Amino acid sequence: MVIDLHNHSYYSDGILSPTEVVRLANKQNCDMVALTDHDTIDGLAEASYEANKLNLQFVFGTEISATWNNMTIHILGLKINPNNKILQTGLKKHQQLREVRSEKIACSLEGAGIIGAMEKTKAITKTGIITRTHFAQMLIQEGICKNMKSVFRNFLTGNNPGSVSVKWAQFDEVIGWIRSAGGVAVLAHPLRYRVTHTQIKRMMSDLAVNGCTGIEVVTAMSSLDEIILVSQWSGELGLLASSGSDYHGWSNQRVQIGCLQDLPNYEQAIWKNWIW
Ligand SMILES: [Zn+2]
Ligand SMILES: [Zn+2]
Repeated sequence: MVIDLHNHSYYSDGILSPTEVVRLANKQNCDMVALTDHDTIDGLAEASYEANKLNLQFVFGTEISATWNNMTIHILGLKINPNNKILQTGLKKHQQLREVRSEKIACSLEGAGIIGAMEKTKAITKTGIITRTHFAQMLIQEGICKNMKSVFRNFLTGNNPGSVSVKWAQFDEVIGWIRSAGGVAVLAHPLRYRVTHTQIKRMMSDLAVNGCTGIEVVTAMSSLDEIILVSQWSGELGLLASSGSDYHGWSNQRVQIGCLQDLPNYEQAIWKNWIW
């Protein structure tokens, strides 16, 4: 089975439309695919329509930013009901936070001499939804930075221009939104947070006791050692295992939909008992 439960469209910071994401997943021989745009469910209807046409199992998802221990983490909501009011209200709050952040980032970049930062960034988006990635793309397009690495070294982080912190909802509240919508919560890319392994295990444990169901054991960037390690941790904490590429379609990203290593232990698979 080829399963990919973490993908982005242009409803957040991906390049492709939801239809194109689903078509690509089908081309890549996926048996099951999820769309998980940041803090939005706006692309799901389109993606689901296309998946139905192609007879491809589609998982309604979203990737929600959350606060744990004063840092931002990403929690995937999978198999959510997009019509659930509690989830919708939560996501709306985050969308408003994102809008305010975009305005502040643009303002800060203007202050650093980047004229028309907001207009130029908006022009890059296809849906008008602006993420930090779009600001980064604008800085590269304008020739101000060479690549993503140099953007995040000189802009948008720390004490640099365009660095704006956001107070996302607490992780337990976010898990609550997902569960209210009938979904399962999954901690995304656990090894991408810049904290020690001890802290990651504490994060996982805090999430587990607050209703989180799973952890992304396999990501496109995972080494075999990392997969085995995270699988072991999830087993210890009674969390189930998910698998997702975090595909965005950026030309500089070598990630492909559905190109994922196997779970070390299929008994842990989060989708094992999913009924369709
Ligand atoms: Zn993420
Ligand atoms: Zn993602």
